[in-house]
Amino acid sequence: MTAHNPTIKSVRGHRPRLHGILFFLFSFSLLAQNSRDSVLSIDSMRTWLTYLSSDDLEGRGTFSEGLGLAASDIADQLKDGGVTAGGDHGSYFQRVTVLGIHSSGRSTLMVEVKGQTRTFRDGEGVLFPKFVGGPRTFTIDQVDFLGYNPDSEKASDYKGKVVVWLESPDPTTLLAAEEGGIAAVLTPDYRASGSSTAIDSAAGNQAPDFVTSQRLDLPRMPSISVGPELMDLLFSASDTRYDEIRARTDRKESLKKFALKGVKLTFNVDPNYRVMTTQFTRNVVGIVEGSDPQLKSTYVAFGAHYDHLGYAPGSLYGTSDRIYNGADDDGSGSTALIGLARAFAQGTKPKRSLVFVWHAGEELGLYGSRYFADNPPQAIGDINNIVTQLNIDMIGRNKDNKASESGTVYAVGADRISTELHNTLVDANASLPRPLAINFEMNDPSDSERIYYRSDHFSYASKGIPIIFFFSGLHPDYHQVTDTVDKIDFDKIARIGQLVYEIGRRIANQDRAPLRDFKGPRVGRGGSGKLLTN
Ligand SMILES: [Zn+2]
Repeated sequence: MTAHNPTIKSVRGHRPRLHGILFFLFSFSLLAQNSRDSVLSIDSMRTWLTYLSSDDLEGRGTFSEGLGLAASDIADQLKDGGVTAGGDHGSYFQRVTVLGIHSSGRSTLMVEVKGQTRTFRDGEGVLFPKFVGGPRTFTIDQVDFLGYNPDSEKASDYKGKVVVWLESPDPTTLLAAEEGGIAAVLTPDYRASGSSTAIDSAAGNQAPDFVTSQRLDLPRMPSISVGPELMDLLFSASDTRYDEIRARTDRKESLKKFALKGVKLTFNVDPNYRVMTTQFTRNVVGIVEGSDPQLKSTYVAFGAHYDHLGYAPGSLYGTSDRIYNGADDDGSGSTALIGLARAFAQGTKPKRSLVFVWHAGEELGLYGSRYFADNPPQAIGDINNIVTQLNIDMIGRNKDNKASESGTVYAVGADRISTELHNTLVDANASLPRPLAINFEMNDPSDSERIYYRSDHFSYASKGIPIIFFFSGLHPDYHQVTDTVDKIDFDKIARIGQLVYEIGRRIANQDRAPLRDFKGPRVGRGGSGKLLTN
């Protein structure tokens, strides 16, 4: 399916030269009426999304034919709309390689406390993660104990330090720690106590230890499980010893955080990765070149994910429908992104260039965006040439199906890396003919959904790039076969798309990239308005 927006196309195609102005006004009024104050045409978006979320594409599962059809269709719309190809060797596609890895490293942790030195090998008193990053050695002598868990802490306050806490870490806490620049996390784990943990040496273990699209040679923050012997040693020069902490936890008493005394830790990260499986998928990438000779080598990035959950191969109870159409997740963002790319390609070019990325594999673990951030296409060069990333994932519904939410968009992450970007969001929205109600509650660090870590923008944020994530909220059809196009509010997509367009346009025309001040989340539940920049 390739025909799109026949109304506007035929007006353009048959515009007689002598009556150009009249026809221009005519088509302009058609556009304005059709899209209700948005550069995005509701009719076109309905056409695109009806196909992308149709049963024909079988739920757009990553590594499926359905996803390939979706990629091809998006590329057709880009070509038709005059958007330049930004993928591999002149195509709209960037191949994403996803590797299954067997990991058998020989990493060690050397602990020095008051002249006493002991080296713990992986599997003998400590357990390093399987995906431990590239080889490197580093020594840290600032180690902080954070009690049961670091939930009330700001990760960047511990930048460059090693932190220790008692509860087993959840993945998003570790992502926050890594993003905040923490050097390593140590948590106690009885499984690290003996040598019985040499699981991977067992013959015939052929399952990959982890699957990733990230580069294996880049450094990662190790989260290390530590046996009781090492824990005792760590606290041995501090005022509070580890056995005292354990006695307090047995009595369920509260614990204070403190800096450990006289500890020096040397991490020797020595991985040995063996590729066991290789799978390919693809991002779709379009570029609109900027108009300024200097600034056009820098980019504003716009993203959505065009993959979804695919279809259920087994029998489903109580329904014959097995296809996860993903009209909202993230057909809505993918569709808006097509409209945005075409609008920029056909309108006045901003100073900076713009890159539009339809990421694959988001639902399986941000594969496409992780790959893109680690391996930006040739046109982009260094990932830091991207000055801001604007991610739209699920923008076509109302949270919990509430009609009162129709004018609301949730913005997540805008203030975390760049205060200036947050303020641009607020100003851009105020300038719209119909401003949206921007709700920041999902940016609140206490928000239990941890939305900030759950979509593609995080792959960019973890490289230090200022991001905003736009989202219209979860609803009962989320990740169900009932997330279908008939339930989509296209006027809402057009309004949110217009906000994204306006923010992108402003940043792309700014002489200076949004300042990265890394002040963390400040605008949360009940928050609104601009922040002071100093
Ligand atoms: Zn999803």
